[in-house]
Amino acid sequence: MHRARKRFGQNFLQDEGVIYSIVALIKPAPEMHVIEIGPGLGALTRPLLRNLEQLDLLEIDRDLVAYWNQQNLDGLKVIEGDALQFNFSEWAKNRTDKKGLCKVVGNLPYNISSPLLFHLVAAANDVDEQIFMLQAEVVERMVATAGSSEFSRLSVMMQARYDMELVLEVPPEAFDPQPKVNSAVVRMIPRKDFDLSSTQWGALEQVVAAAFSQRRKMLRTNLQAYSERLKLTEIELKARAQDISVQRYIEWAKILAA
Ligand code: SAM
Repeated sequence: MHRARKRFGQNFLQDEGVIYSIVALIKPAPEMHVIEIGPGLGALTRPLLRNLEQLDLLEIDRDLVAYWNQQNLDGLKVIEGDALQFNFSEWAKNRTDKKGLCKVVGNLPYNISSPLLFHLVAAANDVDEQIFMLQAEVVERMVATAGSSEFSRLSVMMQARYDMELVLEVPPEAFDPQPKVNSAVVRMIPRKDFDLSSTQWGALEQVVAAAFSQRRKMLRTNLQAYSERLKLTEIELKARAQDISVQRYIEWAKILAA
């Protein structure tokens, strides 16, 4: 029997009701292309495979890769690898018949969730939807609106690229072993109106990082290096990073990259 490994963030889903709800949110259909990050022992994998013609698995734990290879299940492709290094864009572009929606799903290892979310941005042009279980606090920050205390660098960067919704809250008892924190499922759909070049995206990363570098300080201080070029208003100079809308950050990125 497989012993859960902490270093790979292994908390396996047990609750049938929660598993059913997550699979229903993914809405598997025969022509759909899905890659599951971290299948573990298959809580989501098996019910997904019942409704898909093909499912790709990306797993870092060699023992679990061997386990899935032994199962020899029709339609399953097992990829041994680190999701942080994997080229999701290439995966999406190379899928066989290119019909049907292309989705990245998973009950993610919480220890790498932020870097993984940023890594996936590079594939947002090629992927239709992402459905992830994450630490609830991270999902709350992802969907937080400007003005709220959870509104952060992660909120701005993710909302600039995706339309997002917290779709399910999951308590620790749904897992074995139980995590110390609450979990939540987020649906992420790449924004149709996204129009930033890679230079503009880089400028957005820079200005957002600077704005949030000292949360309590006014933008007059945090954006000192940029304030002239951005022509910040008096109100903006006195505001804090968490009071500025995602749209305004996007406008600033465009000015800085011009
Ligand atoms: N999907 C299973 C479930 O819901 O019960 C397992 C989820 S468990 C929270 C996270 C899974 O991600 C584990 O299978 C773990 O080995 C795998 N994992 C951890 N780090 C990874 C990485 N960098 N790349 C790919 N898979 C990873």
